[in-house]
Amino acid sequence: MKPNSNLYLYYGPMFSGKSKKLIEVYNSLKLEKIIFKPKIDTRSKNFVISREGGKIEAISIQKIEDIYSYLENIDIKDIFFDEMFMLEGNINNVVDDLLLKNYRIHIASLDKNYLGNEFIEIKKLIKKTPEYNKHKLFGRCHICNMPSNWTVRLVDGYLDSDKSPEIIVDDDNKKVIYETRCDNHKFTEKILEQEKIYKDSEAIYN
Ligand SMILES: [Zn+2]
Repeated sequence: MKPNSNLYLYYGPMFSGKSKKLIEVYNSLKLEKIIFKPKIDTRSKNFVISREGGKIEAISIQKIEDIYSYLENIDIKDIFFDEMFMLEGNINNVVDDLLLKNYRIHIASLDKNYLGNEFIEIKKLIKKTPEYNKHKLFGRCHICNMPSNWTVRLVDGYLDSDKSPEIIVDDDNKKVIYETRCDNHKFTEKILEQEKIYKDSEAIYN
């Protein structure tokens, strides 16, 4: 499929402001619109929430094909998706179909998993989005604060192995956290700073 100017994409690592952009565009459109989010993302219930601020109510779906029942009997032009990579089903088939039906599609998504490998369905979407509708966002490395392009998963403070599931929501398990990292630090183990605080040397001299 050739690039379609009705396709808008905001992609990059975690903590790069993708949902914030999506919410901005959503709120700026006065026309009636609809927004979906993956059911598996339990962090925010039925809301799309930006870590940088902003919150809108969304419809939770498991697979992308579920949207069709919500499109019946409503007259809308704009369809929004947050965290597209978490949706099951044939993402590209459905997006192509919606574009043929002349909807405008706005998508926020990670482009790479916690190992730095591309999500295939998202890669295809990037290809078919025109250059001027493609917004590659970056975060700030959690180690050095430089612009970051990668997302890593830490389990108990250590980089997760390649044997783990591709998608784990960080809310499921408090031991799991995500960070965004620059090129230099994407495979760097974090050194947990354990500060020992001595009270005015009392511990030594008393
Ligand atoms: Zn860094």
